Amino acid sequence: MNKNIFLLFLFINSVVWSQNTSYWQQHVDYTMDIDMDVNNYQFKGTQKLIYTNNSPDDLNQVFYHLQFNAFQPGSEMDIRLQNVVDPDRRMVNNIGTKENPIYESKIAKLSPDEIGYQRIISLSQNGQPVTHEVIGTILKVTLNEPILSGKKATFDMVFQGQLPVQIRRSGRNNEEGVALSMTQWYPKMAEYDFEGWNANAYIAREFHGVWGNFDVTIHIDKNYTIGGTGYLQNPQEVGHGYEDSSKKMNLPKEDKLTWHFKAPNVHDFAWAADANFMHDKIMAENDVTLHFFYKNNSEIKENWKKLQPKTAEILSYFNKHIGQYPYKQYSVIQGGDGGMEYAMCTLITGGRSYGSLVGLTAHEFAHTWFQFVLASNETKHSWMDEGFTSYISDLATNEVLEQQKTNPFSGAYRSYYYLVSSGKEEPQTMHSDRYDTNFAYSIAAYSKGQLFLTQLGYVIGQDNLEKTIKKYYEDFKFKHPTPNDIKRTAEKVSQLQLDWYLNYWTQTVTTIDYGIKSVTEKEIVLERIGEMPMPIDLTVTYIDGTKEDFNIPLRMMLGHKPTSAKIVKDWPWAAPTYSLNTKKAIQKVEIDPSKLMADVDQNNNIWTKD
Ligand SMILES: [Zn+2]
Repeated sequence: MNKNIFLLFLFINSVVWSQNTSYWQQHVDYTMDIDMDVNNYQFKGTQKLIYTNNSPDDLNQVFYHLQFNAFQPGSEMDIRLQNVVDPDRRMVNNIGTKENPIYESKIAKLSPDEIGYQRIISLSQNGQPVTHEVIGTILKVTLNEPILSGKKATFDMVFQGQLPVQIRRSGRNNEEGVALSMTQWYPKMAEYDFEGWNANAYIAREFHGVWGNFDVTIHIDKNYTIGGTGYLQNPQEVGHGYEDSSKKMNLPKEDKLTWHFKAPNVHDFAWAADANFMHDKIMAENDVTLHFFYKNNSEIKENWKKLQPKTAEILSYFNKHIGQYPYKQYSVIQGGDGGMEYAMCTLITGGRSYGSLVGLTAHEFAHTWFQFVLASNETKHSWMDEGFTSYISDLATNEVLEQQKTNPFSGAYRSYYYLVSSGKEEPQTMHSDRYDTNFAYSIAAYSKGQLFLTQLGYVIGQDNLEKTIKKYYEDFKFKHPTPNDIKRTAEKVSQLQLDWYLNYWTQTVTTIDYGIKSVTEKEIVLERIGEMPMPIDLTVTYIDGTKEDFNIPLRMMLGHKPTSAKIVKDWPWAAPTYSLNTKKAIQKVEIDPSKLMADVDQNNNIWTKD
């Protein structure tokens, strides 16, 4: 190889290398103008989307989500409901008995004026009509000319929509009578990232989006109050609790009001509206305005008032324990079908006990950090969103409601053990829609996902866990982190090797089971029964009544967590058993008294001398 060719080879290699490792993300700028008819739940809209291709690839096609199309008889969401063994109860009618249920898909029963749809009236790319095709809940667009790497394209769309009868997340007249839950309501560009197009059909869950700026104008009956994503630009022309009472109002004479919102740096835009909404606002830490929208209903009013200062405390808790909330408003809105997170807002059902209302608000608000600011790909790694959100919101709820639980995660451990014993567990690498059962999905995402962190605290130490969460947020906010990123962050903080942990816990259904095999006077033999290895905390009580804590490092970590326990020789992965000699005669041995290690059989974790 001559020297010039060799240098060229080095240059090409370095270019390829940098493309494979350097982070990029696409960018969107939406301008939408929507005219809502509150009588027939239909809306007309225009959408200008300036799409910036920051990828290294030239794009010949793009894909939009048309998620309302899921609410039509025969949609994939409908077919799935009719075939999954444990359909979401909100989405089916039980036409059998309680003992012998027969579920009927609510979607299958929708009439044409009850279905949801998004219809594309016209679409152009840079002013020229462009070929497009609706495939279920996806719009496939074959571009007239490629969007070259580093270049922009402008898409102009005219569309119509119909808000479906409330079945899941979006809809009209939810069970608590909220008129419009406008979520997943607009044609939305799919995310294109290092793994390619994320043009997932809307079957059940979850979401992955492109960050950008939204400028949304909504024309709606003047009696309706809107809460949602973004900052209202024209409060004096709207009122409804947004106005500055020290300034002059400028209300129009027409029957409709025009609401103009801007939302910078978000990857979704949601809103809800009702003619009977109360609207309260309070100021919280760092000049964040918290808005609350709820039905003017005496049964729920008191709880919704008490919720308000607690939401401010929850914000402070997350600011302190994760990182700063990057927006200036958050809205807690009664709507939807349970609780669902959106950018700068949540829709939750409101007729709940006070504790449930606060707990749910904490959970949905925590999603802002994990689903909207970090925004790992929830369709692929739901545990990084639902699990981490559950972890931090359980801690926040414990604090703001002064619950004083010593282990606020015990419910998640119970759920995980139940899943394991059911035999229905699937690895967390499964796509969110493709688990065989909703049961296995839910526990894998929420409970096992939460345990990823609680147990990581056991592995690397609680202080390191807290530092890991903060560093992870700081390093990866607005960057769609992947599972490897949380692992690498924990490794950098703890200086311990953790690839095994990510592998076993998230990519397999292997379980942890350690046992005390035998104890003689001054020797303990432990065995690893489950396939998944762990470092071991061991507490020994001696016959003289004294106690000693030991830490048995897992050799593959090449180190151990900071601990006051006595560090003993490491346990190599390949060895099924381990023996430990003590100086004094043994009365009792206990593996992991903290119970943070998710040992699926704890009957063999304690040995006591007869
Ligand atoms: Zn959640």
